[in-house]
Amino acid sequence: SKQMGKNTYFFYDDNQDTVIIEQQKMIKRLEQALSDNELVLHYQPKVNMRTGRIVGTEALIRWHHPERGLVPPGEFLPIIEDNEMIVALGEWVIAEALRQFDTWEQQGFRLPISVNISVRHLQTASFVERLEAQLRQAGRLKQDVLEIEITETAAINDLRHVTKLIESCRALGVHSALDDFGTGYSSLTYLKLLPVHTLKIDKSFILDMARDAEDHAIVSGVIGLAKAFDLTVIAEGVETTQHGVLLLGLGCELGQGYGIAPPMSADRFVEWARHWRP
Ligand code: C2E
Ligand code: CA
Ligand code: CA
Ligand code: CA
Repeated sequence: SKQMGKNTYFFYDDNQDTVIIEQQKMIKRLEQALSDNELVLHYQPKVNMRTGRIVGTEALIRWHHPERGLVPPGEFLPIIEDNEMIVALGEWVIAEALRQFDTWEQQGFRLPISVNISVRHLQTASFVERLEAQLRQAGRLKQDVLEIEITETAAINDLRHVTKLIESCRALGVHSALDDFGTGYSSLTYLKLLPVHTLKIDKSFILDMARDAEDHAIVSGVIGLAKAFDLTVIAEGVETTQHGVLLLGLGCELGQGYGIAPPMSADRFVEWARHWRP
């Protein structure tokens, strides 16, 4: 909406303009990063903490910055999340995850990959059509190779629409998870109305559950809710053996966290998986 010339940077007089200029700069840099292949996905395993089985992996984006090294998503995604660029990045993430799935399959792995998709991206007009085209091109329609973790940085304004989108994804073989459940906008209404397959308990509740009775109660409650709704539940932020033991005691078998393995490059992930002994 705002047109800014090259020198506008020197004339801003309020925070809003600064934010917009920072965003425009970041978008330019990210467009360049995309074409220079500086974006990479790292992978963190999801395991069944009772059996030790690796059940999937979450793709987490990083930016291999030529000067700054490996930049975590928290340093660039929030700046662009209300812009079209989040859609372009999301499309790249899906394509890259499908490519990685092929590579791993050739190496003898067949592991579903979860990708983080912002609600903004999900709600763009042709999300499902483009997802279908990408799956078809990869020969992966209805094969349960991808899962989407719906990350909410804004309220979902049209729940009926999002319900249809989730159902359409499911028909393509793509399950959905409600990410960061219990924080931000991720509410009980969503749980009630959205036909997701999985609830992902946010790490903020897991990290303190051993010391904090309230966090423990929240985790216990979310696991109970998941059971009542017949959903799969997974905990992120499993950093210690104690977290794992507490979660298993509450009936949550699936976990992800530094205590199991950190996010790793695709090659290191394979090495890790080969040597993993629960
Ligand atoms: P998230 O989806 O909740 O992902 C979990 C974050 O917690 C990741 O941070 C992960 O590295 C970190 N983590 C994993 N295990 C542990 C643990 O045991 N303890 C602690 N303290 N942290 C742990 P990361 O990779 O920096 O990603 C941050 C957020 O950025 C993600 O949170 C997700 O919301 C977003 N994100 C990452 N990749 C993508 C992407 O490709 N697309 C979109 N839209 N968002 C992404
Ligand atoms: Ca996630
Ligand atoms: Ca998140
Ligand atoms: Ca989280």
